[in-house]
Amino acid sequence: MKAEIIAVGTEILLGQIVNTNATFIAQELAKLGIEVYHQSVVGDNGGRLAQSLSIAEKRSDLIVLCGGLGPTPDDLTKQVTAKHVGETLVQNPIGQEKLRHFFEKRNTAMTENNLLQTLVFQNGEALQNPTGLAIGIFYTDRETKSHYLLLPGPPKELIPMFQQHVVPLLQERFPQKEKLYSRVLRFYGIGESRLVTELADLIEQQVNPTIASYAKQNEVTLRLTVKTAQEPVGQRLLDQLEEIILKRVGQFFYGYGEENSLAKVVVQRLKANDKRVTVAESLTGGHVQAMLSAIPGVSSVFPGGFVTYSAQTKSDFLQIPMDLLETYGTVSQECVEAMAAQSLKLAQTDYSLAFTGVAGPDSLEGQEVGTVWIALATKNQGVVSHCYHFESHREGIQASAVMAGLGMLYQ
Ligand code: ATP
Ligand code: MG
Repeated sequence: MKAEIIAVGTEILLGQIVNTNATFIAQELAKLGIEVYHQSVVGDNGGRLAQSLSIAEKRSDLIVLCGGLGPTPDDLTKQVTAKHVGETLVQNPIGQEKLRHFFEKRNTAMTENNLLQTLVFQNGEALQNPTGLAIGIFYTDRETKSHYLLLPGPPKELIPMFQQHVVPLLQERFPQKEKLYSRVLRFYGIGESRLVTELADLIEQQVNPTIASYAKQNEVTLRLTVKTAQEPVGQRLLDQLEEIILKRVGQFFYGYGEENSLAKVVVQRLKANDKRVTVAESLTGGHVQAMLSAIPGVSSVFPGGFVTYSAQTKSDFLQIPMDLLETYGTVSQECVEAMAAQSLKLAQTDYSLAFTGVAGPDSLEGQEVGTVWIALATKNQGVVSHCYHFESHREGIQASAVMAGLGMLYQ
């Protein structure tokens, strides 16, 4: 089964939005064992979309179109595809009812063009939209045997429609013997090049499962992917490979999954140990606290913290003596350790993390851009601190500092 994805929309063509739908669809099809051979983008132009369909139909069994199902004149996907396969467009009663209800509830008159969203092919199947109004379509051309899938553009509509209606439909119509199963391993404190070097022979030899590395800000993920007809066999192969990998680089491993993060793992651990942390930030300006507060349920381990950007606020909020700040400077071991100790005392937590440094672009107090001091204070156990030198731009230095601090708390 050869599939191809056509994203429709001039805004994608012009680079104004990123084609995340294609990424999502390709990954989902891979999980179903359906291989994607081509991806393309075409603007909101009937003629060029028709050309794309003619090319696609010659080389692909399943053509997935996304975008252009809306009510405006630039939304042409249904009309052009219907004409291409010789189908008549008819109203979908369920969609139409939902549409009327939608406008009734809002007490506004529905304009006629809205009915364009609930058109479907006479001989096609309607895919209801769990989060929007535009109806999707699945259609098989009896002559050419090509299958068409028409999906809405907004990801918040496309993703639920795909998960709720498209996945079961494709599983039922096109059961693939072999499917892909993936496992993501997350590492912190090791660069991608070193990780890949440590695993070079494995990466080269492995055919099934395969290993792919992906570097993020100060962390690296490895995706292990196995193709198999039997899931338990696949999981066993992934277990075996994971064990070999962790024997070599296990000291840098901290968690599983694409959605996980060092911050989440740290919060989980604090919860498990019934400990609380506060944060005192200078150069990171609240990034650490923003990252923590993005995690649902963090309040039981993070009561709050301090953003003390200037020397004055370090003195006012954290009660660090001005003398100390003037003698040693704010980018100093003395300052960061005082920040950690004072915030720990004020917030009465088990841990405190403190950050001070030079994010740039200009140097500060004669210290080079990228110099960052991070301290960890632990209740009844004193303070430890490290000086880091990050080579990056302002945002990169801040992000590296955040990760390094979380890393200190994790270890
Ligand atoms: P609408 O009813 O909102 O008009 P539609 O099905 O007609 O939906 P488009 O008009 O093509 O879809 O796109 C609507 C919005 O959806 C775009 O402005 C963009 O924000 C998002 N979108 C469209 N295509 C993609 C894509 N391939 N990847 C990510 N986002 C997309
Ligand atoms: Mg639109």
